[in-house]
Amino acid sequence: MLLPAPLLNELRTVPGFDEASFLAAHEQEAVTSVRLHPTKGGNSNIGGEPIPWCSDGLYLTTRPVFTLDPAYHGGAYYVQEASSMFLSHEWQSTIEDNGALRVLDLCAAPGGKSTLVASLLKPTSLLLSNEVIRSRASILEENLVRWGNTNSWVTCNDPRDFTKLTGYFDVIVIDAPCSGSGLFRKDIRALTNWTEDNVALCSGRQQRIIADIWPSLKQDGVIIYATCSFSMEEDEQILDWVAGEFDAKTLAVPLQDEWGIVEVQSPEKEMKGYRFFPGKINGEGFFIAAIKKTGEAGSLKTQRVKARDMAKVAAQTAHLLAPKDWQYIEWSKDMFSAIDAAHLPDWQMLQKALYFRKAGLNIGSPTAKEWIPAHAIALSIDASAGIAAINVNRDQALQFLKREDFGTPESEKGWRLIKFNNLGLGWVKCLGNRSNNYLPKHWRIRMEIPDDDML
Ligand code: SAM
Repeated sequence: MLLPAPLLNELRTVPGFDEASFLAAHEQEAVTSVRLHPTKGGNSNIGGEPIPWCSDGLYLTTRPVFTLDPAYHGGAYYVQEASSMFLSHEWQSTIEDNGALRVLDLCAAPGGKSTLVASLLKPTSLLLSNEVIRSRASILEENLVRWGNTNSWVTCNDPRDFTKLTGYFDVIVIDAPCSGSGLFRKDIRALTNWTEDNVALCSGRQQRIIADIWPSLKQDGVIIYATCSFSMEEDEQILDWVAGEFDAKTLAVPLQDEWGIVEVQSPEKEMKGYRFFPGKINGEGFFIAAIKKTGEAGSLKTQRVKARDMAKVAAQTAHLLAPKDWQYIEWSKDMFSAIDAAHLPDWQMLQKALYFRKAGLNIGSPTAKEWIPAHAIALSIDASAGIAAINVNRDQALQFLKREDFGTPESEKGWRLIKFNNLGLGWVKCLGNRSNNYLPKHWRIRMEIPDDDML
């Protein structure tokens, strides 16, 4: 792979850069890795070698067709690049979760960092996953529904829409849009599109994003800033820019030598960051730093407004949800969500400022005769363990996921959760001699399933 000369020239000035191993790694394939769900992961058969900086991470020796694994559809694991799973170690070394954290993942689609943060957060803390591009926000929503945490909410807003949420967030993850040089092995377009002008453009955009979001970070709050770019303009020089504009310092993270991760300092203000060079580490190019806001921040008061009486909704859905201190919100006309009662003031305030795609757990809607359960309940870690279910084998699971008839009508009528290896996949409604498949159309498997996969 012929790497851009200006990029290599710059990297030669970065301490810890090893050109020979870097070039050799760029002659090899990208590494495939997955991160297991902390509670659902045990229901998957996927196996691999541990990733040293992330306890749920696994390197795979081959890349399977994930679409043909029902456990993937049940949210048992997320396919994520190994270096970026370092966020797990960075988080555990710098963030203390008191059970009331408000976290924003600002550039969140398709959801790798968000599903990781969701796995680390206590259920009473809150994660707002945001994506500015609408089409990407729906992929983000789908991935977070599949992951199944009630406390991960999804918005579709521009960073400047958050400016007015003064001092609201304890942690903001900025996995910034970047020139993508760290992913040359995964995406050849990143190499063919790479130019110095684009690096400068990305650097300017990264500064604008941080400037827009800075007021919404609390004093002593932390921004975790990451890119998949090797360029100093997008990495160390961004840290220098932050230190020049705001009262901020970076937080150091303990490393083990055998990991091969390089600690770097920004040239002017000696802010610390961590670089991942293919060849030194088993993964793709990555940069990450934890920036603490040391200056004062205003604060925004959330006030609890009296909630509507939702006793009827609570009674109609009690069989669907695990016991918890639930509050119910009418999400849109006759569509309801359940949220942790502690998050009601957040919802009441945030819904006025942001465009929401998901708040809490979508629980469905009532008709005159019955409650129609939302697809999200099938994947939720807060679903009741007592929901009537049909356990299916792999063939049946794949047919269900294709929205085809999978041949298990139940004589008893009613809603049934389709489960594969104890993982909820979706709903069917049994009508006596046949059943209706309620998997949302846009979730269905579109590829043809090879015959030898239908064992
Ligand atoms: N965090 C994601 C993950 O782990 O799966 C990857 C995020 S990707 C590196 C950067 C995201 O920033 C993209 O989804 C992109 O659509 C979004 N983005 C692009 N321009 C943006 C802007 N001006 N402000 C905020 N986000 C932007």
